[in-house]
Amino acid sequence: MNNPLVINIQKCSIHDGPGIRTTIFFKGCPLKCTWCHNPESQKYTKEVLYNQEKCTQCNSCMNNCPNHAIYKENNRIYLHKEKCEFCETCLDYCLNNAREIVGKTYTVNQLVHEIEKDMIFYEESNGGVTLSGGEVMTSDIFFIKQILKSCKDKGIHTTIDTCGFTSFENFKEILPYTDLFLYDVKLIDNEKHLLVTDVDNKLILDNLERLSKEDVSITIRIPLIEGVNVDKDNTEIIKIIQFLLPLNIKHINLLPYHDIGVYKYTKLNKEYYGTEFKAPSEEKLKEISSLFENNHFITKIGG
Ligand code: SF4
Ligand code: SF4
Repeated sequence: MNNPLVINIQKCSIHDGPGIRTTIFFKGCPLKCTWCHNPESQKYTKEVLYNQEKCTQCNSCMNNCPNHAIYKENNRIYLHKEKCEFCETCLDYCLNNAREIVGKTYTVNQLVHEIEKDMIFYEESNGGVTLSGGEVMTSDIFFIKQILKSCKDKGIHTTIDTCGFTSFENFKEILPYTDLFLYDVKLIDNEKHLLVTDVDNKLILDNLERLSKEDVSITIRIPLIEGVNVDKDNTEIIKIIQFLLPLNIKHINLLPYHDIGVYKYTKLNKEYYGTEFKAPSEEKLKEISSLFENNHFITKIGG
């Protein structure tokens, strides 16, 4: 069993399923959504983040890196990624906390222990744990299953937040221990899907059809982005509704686009290609919400 890397353990989350939750974000995702607001979650390996705004150019990290992985060019600090061994020495030498390593390994017991700490909040709010990412369904599924099973044994509600791009066997493996799936649907048009996520959507939609036949709750989460799936005539939204109508699914969360994660691209020395994307207007959001409601979906704006 491989212990996957964890990016973050978010306590008291209220956007990742019912009640107050602990959300664990696992690192690594097979999709590369152009609008991704967690670019540090895409790679399956550790990464170094560098915050140029905090950096005073003291050179301390560069002078002390045992692998000579850090260099300077035009008053900016860069990393030879292939030389870095994530020893964390540069973090110790940076007095301004301008450097950070994303990706930490935990055992199942350590994660369950973290989850258990907030038991009182789950009980008070009908909350629980949400395993998210990245794409949690592409982490070692037996590791994920053990966390879910342990939580179920302790009476903790379990949610999986997924883009659906994984083998259906992985879903089968965790089904008995999962109370709710938050399942992303971005586009039905496969060409567009490929263009903005880097993967074909056939597997995602096939898995959703199969999952909807199982005895499990599913909430569909749809990012709403002008320039991706929102237009004047609601073409893609209507396609999504038509796809969902025959399935045993009632709950829809509409997630308006935001760009609050764009600053992370600079920290990773990556370019953000979604600058043309926009959130729909309030009026458009209401229009889309009504389209779902008129088709008898229970619709919520937000997570
Ligand atoms: S983590 Fe270690 S190897 Fe990587 S840049 Fe920092 S000091 Fe160098
Ligand atoms: S140690 Fe920190 S402040 Fe100094 S150059 Fe490196 S990143 Fe910048």
